[in-house]
Amino acid sequence: MSFKEFGLTEKILEAIEDAGYTTPTPIQKEAIPIVLSGSDLLAGSQTGSGKTAGFTLPLLQNLMKNRIAKNRSFPRALILTPTRELAAQVEESVKTYGKHLPLRSAAFFGGVNINPQINKLRSGLDIVVATPGRLLDLSNQKAIDLSQIEILVLDEADRMLDMGFIHDIRKILKLLPSKKQSLLFSATFSSEIKKLAETFLHAPQMIQATKNNEAAPTISHIMHPVDTKNKANLLSHLITFHKWNQVLVFTRTKHGANKLTASLSTKGGIQAAAIHGNKSQTARTKALADFKNGTIQVLVATDIAARGLDIENLPCVVNFDLPQVPADYIHRIGRTGRAGQKGNAISLVSIDENELLKDIERLLKEPIKKITIEGFEPDPTISPKPISRGASGHRQNKSPKPQKTSFTPKKRGFRPFKKAK
Ligand code: AMP
Repeated sequence: MSFKEFGLTEKILEAIEDAGYTTPTPIQKEAIPIVLSGSDLLAGSQTGSGKTAGFTLPLLQNLMKNRIAKNRSFPRALILTPTRELAAQVEESVKTYGKHLPLRSAAFFGGVNINPQINKLRSGLDIVVATPGRLLDLSNQKAIDLSQIEILVLDEADRMLDMGFIHDIRKILKLLPSKKQSLLFSATFSSEIKKLAETFLHAPQMIQATKNNEAAPTISHIMHPVDTKNKANLLSHLITFHKWNQVLVFTRTKHGANKLTASLSTKGGIQAAAIHGNKSQTARTKALADFKNGTIQVLVATDIAARGLDIENLPCVVNFDLPQVPADYIHRIGRTGRAGQKGNAISLVSIDENELLKDIERLLKEPIKKITIEGFEPDPTISPKPISRGASGHRQNKSPKPQKTSFTPKKRGFRPFKKAK
């Protein structure tokens, strides 16, 4: 199938061609006609599935179709994202797909000065991409009027709830007109997501493009048993040995990310940068740009900071610490093995993490290949730290303190889903 069959306008098709896309992805095949029809949508979708184009392309077309002489200083489409990086990326996609259209867009997120954002809004915008907190700040300062919104998109809604944005989202919903088209994209469907969906989606069409908790079949999973204290050295060794020139590394804590970055740079002579919630927006944007253009070889990230990062053709993802929540393993390694390419998911596993590893293997429904690296064999005299289960039901080691990533893998499946072909 080609993009032409959706009935998209020439100018949008031209932008798709410029982007080099020839065939719609499964989620695009399902989502584009639904959004074009004006219906509300509840979509199960993962990062890397092409969901951004799935909602942006028909959103642009709908805005163009209804582009009558309204008060043009009011935004007409609102896209909410959980993180600053995702807001910036989605807005970049809006610009890419809408480059031949006269629609104006901008991304608004915290961590940067609000005044230029207020000025930008004064100049008039059609599409606003924002994180919930900053959008409310702008609204409280009367810098934005959301009363003319025609299309609302909640991107990565599950992550927004995990990050505690539910109250902000409810406040924002109250600022929007009741008559609008609403789209909700989420990787998973907890009861909270379903509850939220019920509050603002009207007779939504439902699609599920990829099954939850499924890793791409092109990814090879390997785990290296190693003592915690030797992990940084083992990582340096692996990077040098395998000549990995671009590797995304996950740590559980912000402190861990900083420590590892410093260790890689000073001891291993490896160009690395960290990306996490305590870094300024400028530093995060620079780290991501440097990583993408090859100035730095290793990007060390925490789960929340990395969520939604669009880094293409990543050959390798390393779990320096295993995630507390097995589903995060799938999110993390979703950055490699995209679009049929081969990918490597490498985990450095200390004895304290064996239970977490078992949880991940259960989710993958297969054991992860274990390879012990000579010179980094774990000390057999070390015994694991006791593991307790927190209130959330997640495994919790006594240390280090996990980052705020209280994703609760509740019952999944918001039936009935139409399965994308
Ligand atoms: P997303 O899931 O929206 O983050 O998209 C993941 C990546 O897929 C992005 O780099 C897009 O540029 C790319 N992409 C989206 N749609 C297509 C398509 N139809 N063909 C090829 N690449 C695509």
